Amino acid sequence: MRAAVFEGPEKLVLHNVPDPECGSSDIIVKVADCGICGSDLHSYLEGAFVAPGQIMGHEFSGTVIARGANVQDIAIGDRVTAVPLSVCGRCPRCLEGSTHLCETGLAASIAYGLPGAFAEFVRVPNAVRGGNVHVIPASVDDAAAALVEPLAVALHAAKSAAPLPTDTCVVIGLGSIGVNTVQMLKAMGAGRIIGIDVSAARLNLAREFGADITINGRDEDPLAAVTRITGEGAYGVGARADIVIEASGSAALLSQAISMTRTAGKLRIAALYEGEPAIPANQIVQKEMSVSGTFAYKGEFAEVLQLLDSGRITAAPAITHTFPLEQIEQAFRTQLDKDISIKVQVKP
Ligand SMILES: [Zn+2]
Ligand SMILES: [Zn+2]
Repeated sequence: MRAAVFEGPEKLVLHNVPDPECGSSDIIVKVADCGICGSDLHSYLEGAFVAPGQIMGHEFSGTVIARGANVQDIAIGDRVTAVPLSVCGRCPRCLEGSTHLCETGLAASIAYGLPGAFAEFVRVPNAVRGGNVHVIPASVDDAAAALVEPLAVALHAAKSAAPLPTDTCVVIGLGSIGVNTVQMLKAMGAGRIIGIDVSAARLNLAREFGADITINGRDEDPLAAVTRITGEGAYGVGARADIVIEASGSAALLSQAISMTRTAGKLRIAALYEGEPAIPANQIVQKEMSVSGTFAYKGEFAEVLQLLDSGRITAAPAITHTFPLEQIEQAFRTQLDKDISIKVQVKP
């Protein structure tokens, strides 16, 4: 089969590689669409999360073309998307249901150790319908289904913030995770949503997805703008947003996010940072803020498909570009250009 192989920083090369073999508990999926993730960009530029020889691509949809003898309730011809994370099922985190925090399993996952979906076919190991494999409803097309993985990240972040109809929520960084978090907060009934980014295209989509106010960080300092909108925080320090979701990955904006959050407010961190950012830790103490990270998803795939099927959320507006596998380098370059792209997908 044809596959895009990571050979080193900024080097993705199309190769003919052997087709994946279907083990007794596996399925083989003919890939329809596969999105480029923010983490893929770090890998592409710096080799951050993958070694040379890796086939990347973990946000995919496609059709089942083979299934092992032990696989139940998944038929050849089913349209599916799959959770790429492999988990052990036995560690304390797995046993309490937080499989995304598995203490051992993440070493060999699809696109991380195991071959990913920037290829004609991908093998999904230990396929369990409703577990790691989800059959796509007829109302959800292949491109939308390949967006389920990042939508699950966004839903996980929004659920962790648990917005109320009276809450003012700030989302910082409106890439695919941030902008989709805006539509999840909206679907969950958040009171008022403020979106912050420096890209006009992303700010426009945030408004389409339900942001009441958008701030372009190139025009106005984000903390000053949120202070203007929500009022000054206690003792004249910072602002008074009820919920802040940091999805930009900028250390400076993480500091601002802490200052934006009101006394006893909630900060949720959905981005990763280069190095170890210095933060105004005393504010966290004095405000008794709740701060927590939000990583990947646990069980949100099914919920996302339900939300897409019911029309409560949409996928298409966030997919700005689609390239054939042959143009994968161009696809990555387009995803790197924040001014024009939100989600770029590759169609093998
Ligand atoms: Zn992803
Ligand atoms: Zn585990």
